[in-house]
Amino acid sequence: MRQRIAVVGAGPAGLTFARVLHRHGHPVTILERDPAPDARPLGGTLDLHVRMGQRALDKAGLLPEFEALARPEGEAMRILDVHGSVLRDWQPRPGDPAHPEIDRGQLRDLLLGPLDVQWGRGVTDVVPGGAGGALVRFADGRQETFDLVVGADGAWSKVRPALSPATPYYTGVTYVETSLDDIDNRHPDLARLIGDGSVAAYGVNRAVVAQRNSGGHVKVYAQFRAPLDWHENPLDPVDLGDAEAVRSAMLALFDGWAEPLLDLFRHGTAFFHRPLHVLPAPHTWPHVPGVTLLGDAAHLMPPLGVGANLAMLEGAELAEAVAAAPGALDEAVRAFEEQMQARAGKWAEMTMAGLDRLVSPDPADALALFDELQPS
Ligand SMILES: Cc1cc2nc3c(=O)[nH]c(=O)nc-3n(C[C@H](O)[C@H](O)[C@H](O)COP(=O)(O)OP(=O)(O)OC[C@H]3O[C@@H](n4cnc5c(N)ncnc54)[C@H](O)[C@@H]3O)c2cc1C
Repeated sequence: MRQRIAVVGAGPAGLTFARVLHRHGHPVTILERDPAPDARPLGGTLDLHVRMGQRALDKAGLLPEFEALARPEGEAMRILDVHGSVLRDWQPRPGDPAHPEIDRGQLRDLLLGPLDVQWGRGVTDVVPGGAGGALVRFADGRQETFDLVVGADGAWSKVRPALSPATPYYTGVTYVETSLDDIDNRHPDLARLIGDGSVAAYGVNRAVVAQRNSGGHVKVYAQFRAPLDWHENPLDPVDLGDAEAVRSAMLALFDGWAEPLLDLFRHGTAFFHRPLHVLPAPHTWPHVPGVTLLGDAAHLMPPLGVGANLAMLEGAELAEAVAAAPGALDEAVRAFEEQMQARAGKWAEMTMAGLDRLVSPDPADALALFDELQPS
């Protein structure tokens, strides 16, 4: 008899897992809290690495479709000092397939394909070890049992407490995200500054990064070291729900920086507050039959271009392991967890060290990190 498998979360991890299982002809129930695929903005562009995200797409049979959508030119990176002088202007070599960019929405649609997601099914908790399998409880009071429940429900996972007491902690770095639309027509000077890829400027304990997405959309990130409650300073509180108040706060925080960098905030539309949290690394847990984790739910780390890639690779690997071991599900999951935890632990330590250098008291540290990763 086929094992009953559920994945909680239709992000990069959960959808890759489901899509690869689907390719192997194995049914999987996909439980997603969002009420619809377009219920919220998905965030900025992702660069998918050959040996991680692209390998996962290959396992799903989706590499040609990805290549048709991806933007290799989006890897371009220009680094400025805070006065606007260009320090580095890195361009990918033509045909270089290393890390092409794709919008999250395009990636999600590519993975969704024929999959049947149950939208609006928020999970509240999972209880392993019952006679009928692991019990999944939903926000609407319903419950179901499965032979395997895969928690791919992101940073604040509701599945994770079934396996581990670990909770994310604040890194000391906050991002404030805004965006600009139709940049080539509305702000041609900024479009030239950003080019085909990204522009970044690093100062003391703060940075500004602007990244081109498809269709002339640009995401801008103010990145800074601050207490988690920086906006609650009694002398100068900032209402995070008020775009003009957040814009003013960012203009004050980056006061004295080059005008084009400040223009990114002046022309930004909505502002989103994104304090960066991470899980302790390495995050391991004793194996519990019937439940496991993938992606951010297993190893939330700083956003240095790895999280979605690892999430997808893990999704594909777990699906292949499950499909290859129909009579030995538990052993397959246990073996997957061991190698996944060891690999993710190394990336979590590297990205944490990377964040310390990118948002650092010494801006030269950020430049040195870039030179190590992208030697010209
Ligand atoms: C600013 C920023 C930039 C980044 N850039 C990159 C990059 O360039 N490259 C890269 O590789 N990574 C990047 N990352 C990291 C990447 O976004 C994450 O690592 C990746 O999205 C993790 O995928 P996931 O599927 O594990 O989790 P998520 O993407 O968080 O998906 C989880 C899904 O689970 C659903 N869910 C949550 N709770 C429940 C529940 N209780 N019940 C049911 N469903 C639930 C959510 O709605 C969501 O659909 C970036 C992150 C940030 C913040």
